[in-house]
Parts: sequence; structure tokens; C-alpha cells
Amino acid sequence: MQTDNIGDVWRELWHTLRNNNGFVVLASLLAASSILVLRALSSFQLLELRAFDKMITLRPTESSESRLVIVGITDADLDTYLGTSSVSDQTMANLIRKIQNYQPRVIGLDFYRNLPNSPGTNDLKRIFEHSPNLIGIEKVIGDEAGNSIPGNNILKTADQLAASDIIVDADGRVRRGILFPAANTPRILEGFGLRLALDYLAKENLAITPEPDASVLTLNQIEFPPIESHTGGYVATDARGYQILLNLRQQEHTFKIVSLKQVLDDQIPPELMRDRIVLIGSMALSRADIFYTANRHTKGELPIKFGVEIHGEITSQIISSVLDGRPLIYPWPAWAESLLIISFAIIGGYLTQRATKLWQRLTFIPGTSLLVFSGSYGALSLMGLWLPVVPMLLGLWFASGLTGAHRTTQLQVLSGKDKLTGLANRRTFDESLQQMWFKALRSQQPLALIMGDVDHFKKYNDTYGHPQGDECLRRVAHAIRTTVRVKDALSARYGGEEFVVMLPNTSATEGIAIANAIRTKLNSYSLPHSTSQTAAHVTMSLGITSFIPRLEIPPSALTEMADLGLYTAKKAGRNQVQIHQPDTLDQLV
Ligand code: GH3
Ligand code: MG
Ligand code: MG
Repeated sequence: MQTDNIGDVWRELWHTLRNNNGFVVLASLLAASSILVLRALSSFQLLELRAFDKMITLRPTESSESRLVIVGITDADLDTYLGTSSVSDQTMANLIRKIQNYQPRVIGLDFYRNLPNSPGTNDLKRIFEHSPNLIGIEKVIGDEAGNSIPGNNILKTADQLAASDIIVDADGRVRRGILFPAANTPRILEGFGLRLALDYLAKENLAITPEPDASVLTLNQIEFPPIESHTGGYVATDARGYQILLNLRQQEHTFKIVSLKQVLDDQIPPELMRDRIVLIGSMALSRADIFYTANRHTKGELPIKFGVEIHGEITSQIISSVLDGRPLIYPWPAWAESLLIISFAIIGGYLTQRATKLWQRLTFIPGTSLLVFSGSYGALSLMGLWLPVVPMLLGLWFASGLTGAHRTTQLQVLSGKDKLTGLANRRTFDESLQQMWFKALRSQQPLALIMGDVDHFKKYNDTYGHPQGDECLRRVAHAIRTTVRVKDALSARYGGEEFVVMLPNTSATEGIAIANAIRTKLNSYSLPHSTSQTAAHVTMSLGITSFIPRLEIPPSALTEMADLGLYTAKKAGRNQVQIHQPDTLDQLV
């Protein structure tokens, strides 16, 4: 029968947890939840987006998009060829006429052209009126001042306008494409890139009419799930309207690009534009409309793209996923991401706990990190799956750090502990005896020592076997641990089945009470001992001494006195406490 109260159970549980692998689970969950909270607070957003860029740019080069040609109006076109700062209506009319002669399927005009720029205004008007395959732009989402830019009126009347808005992330990079901007007006306009793709695909005989009420845009059974405010590494980002993640081709030029001069001077192959999408836009570095992107290939030193290229990328992304099955980029749902992060925290804790050899310590966590990164990279480049690589790695390392730190302290603690019972070992006792002795000497307070020995323990071993003997010793230790409550007391295993308890500031009377409490507790366990000549259960004899140390006396006097008490207890019939005080202190010198 066991008479532990709740407090005893609690102490014993804490004792187990601190010394056990149970801590790994605790540390891993602590690490994972910290990472999840910090992630929700947007602490890693920038890091996660940059890691995403890194993986995007590491991907192998893809073939370029041959269904799309860009006519880029460059600085050279304006300054050298035209000698003006802007393209007049006449030049624009001539350019479109030339392009139409090559019979493109769709023309995208990445200029607003809402205001006349004579000469040639009437000519351009006529061109607009007779170009049903030409799509112009308007800016739907206003700038900070709320100013949107209207498109050309003729194109608007003919429903040949699309939204030119481009969304930029908090770090100034473009990673998303707008399929439908969030407009304040009831008129819903497609994004420029989507509109060009739809008009191009219209001739492909596919089921591509978007369902007006569907929550996910589906073209020929390919779904384009929209970004939400917490998609992937994003935290509370502006996900209004309908946006998708860009899947930029890692190409210096995704498209064939020709200049205005080349078109007007008939310097392009006649087949270049036939039945294709032709995008006309500014590619002048001196003008605005330049965006930072995650792109391996750079213009000059900078990973930038012109606005017209971004629209082209969106168009290309849509038609290539519909026609070629090229993967889109999509993240996992938030719960699955959290599960991954928690899993890798647990793996980090577990591997650190298991790594006992030096080479294991040096390789387990870095190796797993490498696996996490290459796995995430593989998932992204093969399937377009965006995994939370940064929080996964942070969880892994954080849990590993906590577990490692715990183990280091545990090793220090364990080296001073007795393995079998969890009490202090003989070495710790010897060291503490010196310290406590001199502390008591300075403060002139009594120092008490209890020394206990299990009765007839040899017979117990003989009767029940050595393993059961070990278990019995654990129970004795348990009785001691749960009984002694004196501040700074030290309970230790002194030898085989001998235990000591050192009690600072404790008088002989108090010491006797504690020793008896230990004895009573052990008796209450009623551990059967059939060959004991003292009782039917396991009992213990204890000796105690308590006195104020003096400088002339060696600390070992304390153990000698307690041992004499124990000897008396054994001789007097066991299962009892006997005190032994020095007759005169001089006797001890
Ligand atoms: P007494 O009542 O006079 O103390 O008799 P005793 O048999 O307890 O005393 P003795 O010193 O002769 O025997 C102690 C026994 O304790 C001998 C040894 O085998 C056993 N012992 C010592 N350390 C351990 C241990 O770690 N595990 C187990 N199971 N037995 C141990
Ligand atoms: Mg004994
Ligand atoms: Mg003994």
C-alpha cells in the first residue's frame, strides 16, 4: 500500500520528466508553437518571400514563350529614331497598321491613349475602330490619392479594355499577378494579362468561358486558385480582387522582343507575329514602369522587368498551363503548413536527443536542413508546391537547440547523481559535506546527519533476486525524497543500501523526527520481505547526529557519529532511529 499524497506524486512526476526523454516532446512543442506565433506576427514574411525567390531562381531554365512577341519602345526608339519624348498618334497608328499586316491573333496595347497626341489623332481613332483584336488598358485601382487612369474611349465602348494594375509586395518585388482587380465600380474588368490570354485561347476551341459565379477561375479544367491574405509566406497581405502567384520563366527574355524601329523599318521576319499575341509597351529604362522581380537573369545588375513583360508573363502563365500543362504555383493550406512546421520541430528535438556521437551531432541537423531545403526546392520546381521552408528550418533548429541545451545541463546534473535512485551520489555528498560543514561552522548553526541502512537486505536479494532488490532501493529513495522538506537538505546514496541525509540548521530533536518520518513512510509501503527477522516487510535502521561544527574537528566526524547511531539502531533490534551525540567535542578532535 502506498500513502503518497498529491504533492509527492507531483514531485515524483517532475523528477521523471526532467530526467527523461519526455523533455524532447516538451521542447519540440515549445519550439514549434513559438515559431507559429512569430510567423503569425509576420516576423518571417520577408525571409520567407526571399527564400521563395531563391528557390524560383534556382530552377533550371525553361523554354521561352513563342506564342507572344513584345514590341518594346526603347530609349533608342524615342531619342534616336523618333527624336521625341513620346510616341505620337501618327507613329502609333503606323505601328499598329504594320503589326496588323502580319495578322496577329491578339494585340495588347500597354499604353493608356486616353488623351490625343497629335498629329495623327484621327488616323489612330480609325485604327482603333477597326481593330476588334486590339486590347487597350485602363488603371482601375487608384494610387494613394485615389487617381485611376481611364482608357481610350473608343476601346472602352467596344469593350476592348483591360486593367493594367500591377501589385507590388512589401519588399518592392512583384510576385503576384492580378487576374481581376478589386474595383469600387460594379463593372468587373479582367486584368490585362488574363484578357489577352482569354482572347488568344478563344480560338483554341476549349472550354474556357469563365463561370461568372465560380469562386475559383477554371479554364479548360485547369484551376487558378486565388491568393488569400495568408497564402504561403504572406501574412495579412492585400489579397483583394483576384490574384495568383507568378511563375516566372527563368529566361533572360521570356519572349521574343523587337523594337519599334525594327517593326516600322520592316526588319522583322514576316512569320514572327502571325497568329500570335503581340504586346506593345514601353521598354525604355529612362521611363517609369519598371518592377523588381525574382528573376535569375538581370537587366544590367538589377533583377527587373518592364510592366509590359509582367503582363506578358501573366498571359504566358495562363496559356501555358491551359495548353501545355505547365504547373502553377500554389501553397498548402495553413493547417498543413503548421503540421509540417510542428513535425520538423519534433524531428529536430528527437534527432538531437539521439545524436550521442560527435559525427552524429555534426551531421544530423545540418543534414536534415539540407533535406528540408532540397525537398522544398524539388516540390516547387516539379509540382509548383510552395512549402514553408523558413519556418520548417527555424522549428528544426530551435527544437534542436532547446533539446541540446537541456541535455548538456542534464549531463552535468546526472554526473552528480546516482543512476539507480536519482538521489545525489557519494561524490556529491562528499563535496557537499565540506561546503555545508564550513557554512555551519561560520554561522555556528547545528548540522544534522541521518544515516540509514536497509535491514536484512542481503536476504532480500537472496529471496527476491537482484532486480527486485534494485526496485526496493528505488522505493527507499522515494520514501526519503518525499519526506525530507528541509531547505538546502541533501539526500544521497552513500553506498549499496546505505543512504544519508544532510540537514543544515537542524537540531537533534528535529533530526530524529525526520528520520522517524522516513522510517514510517517506508513501513507504510509494506514491501513484502518474508526472510526478514525484524518484520514481514522491508524496514530500515537509521542513526542520527547533530552538533555545531568547530574548527578543530574534521568534517568526517559527522559521518562517524551518525554511523555509530546506526550501529546502535541495528544492535537494538533494527527498524528504529538512534541518536549518537559526541560526549565531549574534544573526543572528536
Ligand atoms: P543488515 O540488516 O545488518 O544491514 O543486513 P544486510 O543484509 O542488509 O547487510 P549487508 O551489508 O550484509 O548486505 C548488504 C547487501 O546489499 C549486500 C549487497 O548484495 C546488497 N547490495 C548492495 N548494493 C546493491 C544494489 O545496488 N542492488 C541490489 N539489489 N543489492 C545491493
Ligand atoms: Mg543492510
Ligand atoms: Mg549495509
